[in-house]
Amino acid sequence: MNFYILTLFPQMVEEGLNTSIIGRASEAGVLHIEAVDIRAYSANKHHKVDDYPYGGGAGMLMQAQPVYDAWKAVADRIGKKPRCIYVTPQGGVFCQQKAKELAMEEDLILLCGHYEGIDERVLEEIVTDYLSVGDYVLTGGELPAMVMVDAISRMVPGVLSNLESGASESFEGNLLEYPQYSRPEEWQGKKVPPVLLSGHHKNIEAWRRQQSILRTKERRPDLLEGAALTKQEQEWLNRLDN
Ligand code: SAM
Repeated sequence: MNFYILTLFPQMVEEGLNTSIIGRASEAGVLHIEAVDIRAYSANKHHKVDDYPYGGGAGMLMQAQPVYDAWKAVADRIGKKPRCIYVTPQGGVFCQQKAKELAMEEDLILLCGHYEGIDERVLEEIVTDYLSVGDYVLTGGELPAMVMVDAISRMVPGVLSNLESGASESFEGNLLEYPQYSRPEEWQGKKVPPVLLSGHHKNIEAWRRQQSILRTKERRPDLLEGAALTKQEQEWLNRLDN
């Protein structure tokens, strides 16, 4: 899968995404992650990319021209207009389901704003999706873009090894993952739940499923509504409440 990240800070994005699992997948050619320097497309002789907003108000705004030309350079080079995500606090909140959906794309452009944001006219021209990482305001779109590239990449076949499989992770089936333990069997007086040492796979699976449901109920009850629970599980949960 190919990611093109339009940014004023390409080094930040490159350095943030070239380590560990994502870096390994890029090296193996499963992912192509390219930071495109918007400033390099400025028509201004001083490479200026921002100006004051019309109507006044605080801060500076990224201008339409360099953003459009950076986007067009990518679109022309790859010969199509891929989905283009503007990372913005004004978008819908990015989630695992969206990561899975976007991982089906062959090419994706992520546009990072800075300062007070970007001239609306270029957004109307090139953006297909508006996505946020949460209800707070960051100084720039680079961290949100990196978050999204990471989460989307994990859903691309060949990025995770079998050992790192994402199949039973949090948000699968709208449940959080069960608690996990590694060696030693006892640490600071705390013992690993005996069922996990039993070697009885069916019991382990049942215990993990129960723990997932309990954890979701405790920490993210909002998710439980969309979880596919069996009748018995639902009854068990109801009994816990009474
Ligand atoms: N003036 C804008 C507003 O009130 O909506 C906020 C601009 S913010 C300081 C600068 C840039 O950071 C935005 O253009 C966007 O790309 C990025 N950004 C900030 N918070 C974000 C969030 N929660 N999710 C995604 N991107 C965000």
